[in-house]
Amino acid sequence: MTVYAQPGTESSVVSYKSRYENFIGGEWVAPVKGQYFENPSPVTGKSFTEVPRSTAEDIELALDAAHKAAPAWGRTSVAERAVLLNRIADRIEENLEALAVAETWENGKPVRETLAADLPLAVDHYRYFAGAIRAQEGGISEIDGSTVAYHFHEPLGVVGQIIPWNFPLLMATWKLAPALAAGNAVVLKPAEQTPASILLLMELLADILPPGVVNVVNGFGAEAGAPLASSPRIRKIAFTGETTTGRLIMQYASQNLIPVTLELGGKSPNIFFEDVARENDAYYDKALEGFTMFALNQGEVCTCPSRALIQSSIFDQFLGDAVERTKAVKQGNPLDTDTMVGAQASNDQLEKILSYIDIGKAEGAQVLTGGARAELDGDLAEGFYVEPTIFRGSNSMRVFQEEIFGPVVSVTEFSEYDDAISTANDTLYGLGAGVWSRDANTAYRAGRDIQAGRVWTNCYHQYPAHAAFGGYKQSGVGRENHLMMLSHYQQTKNLLVSYSEDKLGFF
Ligand code: NAD
Repeated sequence: MTVYAQPGTESSVVSYKSRYENFIGGEWVAPVKGQYFENPSPVTGKSFTEVPRSTAEDIELALDAAHKAAPAWGRTSVAERAVLLNRIADRIEENLEALAVAETWENGKPVRETLAADLPLAVDHYRYFAGAIRAQEGGISEIDGSTVAYHFHEPLGVVGQIIPWNFPLLMATWKLAPALAAGNAVVLKPAEQTPASILLLMELLADILPPGVVNVVNGFGAEAGAPLASSPRIRKIAFTGETTTGRLIMQYASQNLIPVTLELGGKSPNIFFEDVARENDAYYDKALEGFTMFALNQGEVCTCPSRALIQSSIFDQFLGDAVERTKAVKQGNPLDTDTMVGAQASNDQLEKILSYIDIGKAEGAQVLTGGARAELDGDLAEGFYVEPTIFRGSNSMRVFQEEIFGPVVSVTEFSEYDDAISTANDTLYGLGAGVWSRDANTAYRAGRDIQAGRVWTNCYHQYPAHAAFGGYKQSGVGRENHLMMLSHYQQTKNLLVSYSEDKLGFF
């Protein structure tokens, strides 16, 4: 067990500045209006740095820098860009421990996750797109004996990216790696709850990329996000966040007729078929762990398996074991490598989750464990902790239909296969799902029948760079990860060339 020292203390592996500026054109630039806001750590509830409260004027500066950088960057060879992406991956890997602790401090998630998952996934993501861009082929079509169509992948130019707070460095990476690989210059706006770890990353990467290729402007959604998303100076907007915000982003983009990719909310079903149950068996144990995945990252995951559907014949046994398994999850100081569940990312999020717990109770859902703010001692007492909570109820309840984005799962039962599928699909969303069955046919059929972009089968919460990720229904538009992502950051140039001296024959 290791307990990392809190940033700001002498023995910490992280040294955050007491105030950050925007990262524009490779320089640290103060916000035009001179305003800043405090960034608290969810671990203790206390502020540890200040960040620019940017406005449209700062977005314009960043767009100036991006436009200056874009033409030369867009002309670099794929091999050159791949080298730089690999260098970014190496730099993150060299600083993995510091970035992991930094992200834990800012977001509240357990350091064992940032060390073992978030940061290694980010490293791999840059390496994956470094390879993918080199392997991508254009295409040549022979139209006739002397006419050839050449297809080239060209960058879009300057793109805007807006990200949420639940995986700050990984969400930034999911956006930056494909955009840069494809040869675009970027203006990125981090979430106002978690700007600092991304600024720390910019400090580490500042010497790798040409100035202006990546620009980071901080601030709130309406003040900094909206001017970016609605700017006529971007050629694409990529957004991850709430479905309601996603609708606005699409409206802004429609004014400029630019492409949009949206990664939005979810209310993912996790289905346990009756053949899961068997005494003292490794697979059964794995399925129980699959159930408790609702508490991973404090439930602040768009694919959180926040609805568990259990077949009636095993309902009591499975749910009883799942409750025990959930009670055994260790919650505490996120900087302790033994901690499995840490703090919610912000006080607002804490309050939102607690209000949903009240809503669930009021609408008659039964609390099987949890159901309250977690009380921790010492300087963690003011942190934003919620007990992992299991509700039992029915799929029409609000706690089954609305995204809570906390460590809360709502459980119900089904009798037949068709009931499971219709309940699973009875949601506005379609991002993730889990299917647990020892029977390959049942697992395959369910995977195909569920309306969601990612169906984990006998596993959950894995995010490899080379598996496509994205939503059906109101969970999003477009995909992330996988080389198909590159097409969202490229446009196709077709050269149609005649090598014949014959006349065209019309005039
Ligand atoms: P949010 O929509 O409130 O904010 C996300 C980002 O959008 C922030 O940077 C915010 O400042 C910005 N923003 C807010 N209003 C804006 C506006 N009018 N114009 C431009 N930008 C604006 O979402 P959140 O609460 O920060 O994030 C949680 C949500 O993100 C959840 O719904 C979750 O499901 C979703 N999410 C989805 C995925 C996915 O891949 N599908 C991944 C992570 C999180």
